[in-house]
Amino acid sequence: MEDLKAIPLSALQHYAFCPRQCALIHNEQLWAENWHTAKGNVLHERVDEGLPETRNGIRFERSVQVHAPKLRLVGTLDLLEVNLKTGELTPVEYKKGKSKADNWDRIQLCAQAMCLEEMRSVKIVKGAIWYWRSRKREEVLLDSSLREQTLKVVQQVAELFDSHKTPRAIYGKHCESCSLKDLCNPRLTAKDQSKAYVDELYKDRDEETSE
Ligand code: SF4
Repeated sequence: MEDLKAIPLSALQHYAFCPRQCALIHNEQLWAENWHTAKGNVLHERVDEGLPETRNGIRFERSVQVHAPKLRLVGTLDLLEVNLKTGELTPVEYKKGKSKADNWDRIQLCAQAMCLEEMRSVKIVKGAIWYWRSRKREEVLLDSSLREQTLKVVQQVAELFDSHKTPRAIYGKHCESCSLKDLCNPRLTAKDQSKAYVDELYKDRDEETSE
């Protein structure tokens, strides 16, 4: 059986931003840095610095590696808080912006917690997201609804990885801040439907010959 490629936790965010961007980065190995990604990287480097420390009965572990084969996920947590009295684990994710109405940041955090649960056979009730711009910490309850959403997204990203395909561009406002805009050329690729047309024409024939 073909070995399935592990899904980096970062791919969940890339998929949230744009499935095509996710495929370009993870299926086609394209990457380009822009102002937004550079700023995010500097923030994570700052968070990554430093040895574990203990304050008021909480041990703060930085850059914690996770690998959860059942979930097919792999990645690095910004910060893990360990309550030395109760053993409670709280993953903390750092974001450069501010809290948003959509659930994408929470989904990434929930995926981190589920990785820890698989690895350490523990139950994690909550996590937290620290928003750099607003300087606010948001506590996130990892309830069944958020867990379901998280598993659904992991499944969608797994299907994208396994398809080895890159979806067509859908041009939108988000393209203006996309690090891959020049490589993707969304205005052109969104309009260029000729490849999709030709693929569709030959679909039946390919299916016949592959049987
Ligand atoms: S430029 Fe737009 S369509 Fe292309 S990868 Fe980026 S966000 Fe997606």
